Amino acid sequence: MRYLVFLTFCFLAIQTNAQKPKLVTSISKNNPKPKLVIGIVVDQMRWDYVNRFKPFFTSNNGFLRFVNDGATCNNTLIPYVPTVTACGHTCVYTGSTPSIHGITGNSWFDNVKQRTVYCVEDNAVQTLGSTNNSAGQMSPVNVWTSTLGDELKLASNFKSKVYGISIKDRGAIIPAGHAANGAYWYDSKSGNFISSTYYGQSLPTWVTNYNALHRPDSLYNQNWNLSLPSSIYEANCDTDENKYEGTPFGKEAKHFPYSLKEYIGKDYGKIASTPYGNNLVIELAKQALLNEQLGKDAITDMLAISFSSPDYIGHSFGPDSWETLDGYIKLDETIADFFSFLDEQVGKDNYTVFLTADHAVANIPAFAKKHNLPGDNYDDGALKNDILACLSSNNLNPKIISAVSEYNIYFNHSLMDSLNITSDKLTSILTNYLEKKPLVLQVIESRKAAYAPLPQSLRERIVNGFTPQRSGDLMLLTKSGVVDGYPTGTSHGVLYNYDAHIPLLWYGAGIKKGVVNGMTYMTDIAPTISTLLGIQMPSGSIGKPILEVLK
Ligand SMILES: [Zn+2]
Repeated sequence: MRYLVFLTFCFLAIQTNAQKPKLVTSISKNNPKPKLVIGIVVDQMRWDYVNRFKPFFTSNNGFLRFVNDGATCNNTLIPYVPTVTACGHTCVYTGSTPSIHGITGNSWFDNVKQRTVYCVEDNAVQTLGSTNNSAGQMSPVNVWTSTLGDELKLASNFKSKVYGISIKDRGAIIPAGHAANGAYWYDSKSGNFISSTYYGQSLPTWVTNYNALHRPDSLYNQNWNLSLPSSIYEANCDTDENKYEGTPFGKEAKHFPYSLKEYIGKDYGKIASTPYGNNLVIELAKQALLNEQLGKDAITDMLAISFSSPDYIGHSFGPDSWETLDGYIKLDETIADFFSFLDEQVGKDNYTVFLTADHAVANIPAFAKKHNLPGDNYDDGALKNDILACLSSNNLNPKIISAVSEYNIYFNHSLMDSLNITSDKLTSILTNYLEKKPLVLQVIESRKAAYAPLPQSLRERIVNGFTPQRSGDLMLLTKSGVVDGYPTGTSHGVLYNYDAHIPLLWYGAGIKKGVVNGMTYMTDIAPTISTLLGIQMPSGSIGKPILEVLK
């Protein structure tokens, strides 16, 4: 009888709770939950930039708002290879690695489809906002696991609003997730922000209205001038003009100031390589906040922003350039302006922001050499040529290699079978040949990476980057400082810390002021936000919540 009374009581309790549903995301004083989460991914930002550039920030309200009033994680690493944009955005928002979420590169050779696949390609959808048809045939269907935004949606019966905005398609689509309301990226042909029919049948009016302003033209009209006196850049950077820098604004434009006026109405791609790319992103983000009423009720919304321009600038000019320093001084102002906007629109205590990077970057190899540091170039093209030379000296059909991508070497197994060449034999031939090359550290058999003779933490990064459907049979590890890239400029993608050590900053509701110097990982970001919001962590998440940053 007592048992029955207890059961009845439980039933009534459940009934009462059911009649007055409490939203998981509601705010209470003891456990403050934000109305809005903003994720900012700064493409190619190195961890050391905040410290290096701190003296030159003109505002206390940009990066320094995180540093002074929020939490800083000083030792956040990327726990997988390759350290490239698509993998970075996927890891941040899934808490997972390529081995589980499936995004093994910006593109990869797909062992199932037997062709190269772009990370967000989706031929089943159509472009919205441009006649450039291929630019919008994109969606997150290639991501295998759920994202933070997806879990937020599930926790709120899909009432949370989730948006992604970036210059790069992959920087908007992947962070926004599968169940997103919208993702908008920049089309360099039309100068418009575009989307795909994956998200709906037409662009929202606020996006069309923003496009109609032709902001790239008015930003081009301002040219790119230094924010501070040139003596600051002279004292703190490499020389402005260098043979080893790229020339995105034409062969003659080698130093400041950069004239951009000539691109008005003609070339909408160039703006991505200037700090104005960040202005475009933040201007559209403000429109999203205003028009979609983000952070206006008790149901938590999420806005994922990615600044792609620092990556374009960094690839051309490197981390020690005037362009990179000036780009960050201007980005700091952009972020400061955005913080003021958020304070006004959402309210200071109602939002939480994290800022990180999808990967970092190597010094320009020629710059490193100039200072007697290790540095060289060995790109996928050079690797391909070496492989062909090796095959030819062994009288092997060059077609037994299907592809070389992100230092992954893909075998053509059906051809190998018909020619009676075993994987072991081909592996041994290529390994013996390539490991004699001066820039090669080691050739790894991808499936056996767990047994590679490497320090455990590095071995793990290779294991975490491998999936049989989308990875190569072999993976080449180059020596430290070797860049898979261009004859000028620099790149990223390997497991060394110059590519893998990223900033991780937190600010806002639920964030405890402080500094975390212990090791944290990119995979920890999603479970930390999940813990803050009291929602399920994304399905493939392998990270741990960083409890030190949570109140
Ligand atoms: Zn890049």
